[in-house]
Amino acid sequence: MRPFSGHTRSCRTALMILCCSAFLCTAAHASAERPISHAAWMKDLRNEALRDGISESVFTAAFKDFTPVDRVVTLDRNQPEFQLTFKRYLNRALSKKRVRKARQKARRHAKLLAETEETYGIPKEYLLAFWGLETNFGAHFGGFNVPHALATLAFDTRRSKFFRKELFHALHILNDGHIAPEKMYGSWAGAMGNFQFMPSTFAAYAIDGDGDEKKDIWESLPDAFGSAANYLSKMRWREDERWGREVRLPKGFDFALTHKRKPLKEWSNIGIMRSNGKPLPMPKTEMSARLILPSGHQGPAFLVYHNFDVILHWNRSDFYALAVGILADKIAGRETLSRMDWPDYAVPTQTVKHIQAVLKKQGYSIGKADGIIGSKTKKILRKYQEKSGFPPDGHLSEPFVKHFIKTFPPKIPLKQPPLPDRKPVRTP
Ligand code: CA
Repeated sequence: MRPFSGHTRSCRTALMILCCSAFLCTAAHASAERPISHAAWMKDLRNEALRDGISESVFTAAFKDFTPVDRVVTLDRNQPEFQLTFKRYLNRALSKKRVRKARQKARRHAKLLAETEETYGIPKEYLLAFWGLETNFGAHFGGFNVPHALATLAFDTRRSKFFRKELFHALHILNDGHIAPEKMYGSWAGAMGNFQFMPSTFAAYAIDGDGDEKKDIWESLPDAFGSAANYLSKMRWREDERWGREVRLPKGFDFALTHKRKPLKEWSNIGIMRSNGKPLPMPKTEMSARLILPSGHQGPAFLVYHNFDVILHWNRSDFYALAVGILADKIAGRETLSRMDWPDYAVPTQTVKHIQAVLKKQGYSIGKADGIIGSKTKKILRKYQEKSGFPPDGHLSEPFVKHFIKTFPPKIPLKQPPLPDRKPVRTP
């Protein structure tokens, strides 16, 4: 069911990052001219839908007054000028207002959250964290008619196969009467309802929580909470484990261990401590953890456990998964980040593309120079950094980028990074 490519989801706009993760793939494919007219394409779509069991009246209602939505294609093509940094991401995702709102929602929906936790084994603070990050607790579903947005993206050539499949799932949701066509609203990419389920996710994991025989993830909270919890449970969430934790690295730490997975015992033997300086807690059964450095070696370090990988199934972005975990900790009143004082450097996307192109030319198998710092790019960066005497953390820090540009000057001058966020950085 996971429609991801192997890299971290790109961050197209700040809004999308925070609100519309959408179990969404961002693999870039080359554009090509659509060989048939829109009218002929719609006729073909209609024939296929009817053969697939969609009723004529549902199809007609879904595409009443439909023309391809230009804004959807624009958003699909949009790439940010600068990479969003982890610090800025956290500042937007984990505002004090959001934590306060989460606690209000926890009180208001205490009974339903407790029942959902009991049934699916997903602690309420995690459900609230997903809900807050996806739609600001149901405040923003996205203003796009889902069949229209998906048909636009299916007619467009960049990822037409993926979106055509999603469109058929959406038509079946309508055909089964879970929601009326005029109420099927979601993100520009078709992510729907309180938890921004893609239609294929809905098909596989949505449930009817309130027993009215409809899976209404828009207006029924029992359906929405149950569906999100069911998804996490099916992804094998471990109720008795946390997502991970912030840790303190020992002096002289070997940054080549970044992203490696090891038993907790081994990390402890290397000298990794909890962020408060106490030893790592050792579970009775052996647990393994990966070391994550979302802002490189100068930023905070995290050991992440099995549940972190479950969150990555939802949205394949380390920033997102860390935000879910940290927000859940804040909601539950647990210890959260020990510091927010690391250097913040937003790299222009143009610079990322330049670095990728240079590394590719040097024979590193980095794939396409797409300006997205995914797991492949990070891996290659670690290799290059190790060779060139930088801490191999796979991070584009200011000193590293400056060194790289000096060593490999681009033909066209690159943009300068923006000034740091005007808002003062919050203390945790
Ligand atoms: Ca229902």
